[in-house]
Amino acid sequence: MPRCARDTKPESSPINAAILPDIRPMRWLGAILLFAGLCGGMLGGLAAAEDAPNLVPSAVPLPRPRPPQVPAWIEPHSFREAAGSDFNSAAVTDKPTDCDLRLARIATIVPMPRLIGPGACGGGDMVRVDAVLLPDNKRIEIRPEPYLRCEMAESLAAWIRDEAAPRLEKAGASLRRVETYDDFECRGRNRVIGAKLSEHGKGNAIDLRAFTLDDNRAIGLTDIGVPKALRASIRESACARFTTVLGPGSDGYHEEHIHLDIAARRNGYRICQWDVREPQPPAVTVPLPIPRPKIAETPVKDGRKL
Ligand SMILES: [Zn+2]
Repeated sequence: MPRCARDTKPESSPINAAILPDIRPMRWLGAILLFAGLCGGMLGGLAAAEDAPNLVPSAVPLPRPRPPQVPAWIEPHSFREAAGSDFNSAAVTDKPTDCDLRLARIATIVPMPRLIGPGACGGGDMVRVDAVLLPDNKRIEIRPEPYLRCEMAESLAAWIRDEAAPRLEKAGASLRRVETYDDFECRGRNRVIGAKLSEHGKGNAIDLRAFTLDDNRAIGLTDIGVPKALRASIRESACARFTTVLGPGSDGYHEEHIHLDIAARRNGYRICQWDVREPQPPAVTVPLPIPRPKIAETPVKDGRKL
């Protein structure tokens, strides 16, 4: 299969910088434009059908426009500036990395070219993960297909294959598809402007919503209608595999999805914040007391009850 080179043009190449807004449908545009010359039409399919804009009901207000004085990012002036200080043209190669080779044994992947900026976003050794293969070669699709650094993709694939799918199987549920919510996206943490760069901006993070089963049932990871023991078991395995796990009860931004990443921290510090919530008890209706029958008054005569 032909591949794009993992890195890009020599330093003298002019750059036609493109803006990467922080919304999902457009986030790949910058990378696609930057690499269009190098990779020809190979990336033409990147803007997949998943990114087709949804029709928005007219009753839904449009997002507030950005103040014009706050630029989304500053356009780089040279290829070197855009590519980042760690870019080394001598390392340009179309050979699969060791990680690619390991990952290809347990997943269907498409290696991607180096993703460039803005700022510290992007990086090398990125892949698109289309599916994970279980030991019996059953194909578990991942939709929308996430774009991740190979190391993160490998952790995700191994977790789905060796931990999530067996746990579901044990609970009588056969996994068919993993539903994602977010993957590579150049933005600050929790989409807060000016916040520290999210691990999503480096391809080191993924957000998951649900598992779809063979019978089309969806197992929402934060759904209190899903058996608590199963959610707790999935949580335990995620916290053992990833260095950051955020869910309900973490910071208010993860009440309906789970964030997983492999951020490296000093002294191996890990974050596992996912409250596996109790199912809501059924509403108790207190019956009204049965009306007492009227007690007939005892007749009294000459001050004595008869
Ligand atoms: Zn996330």
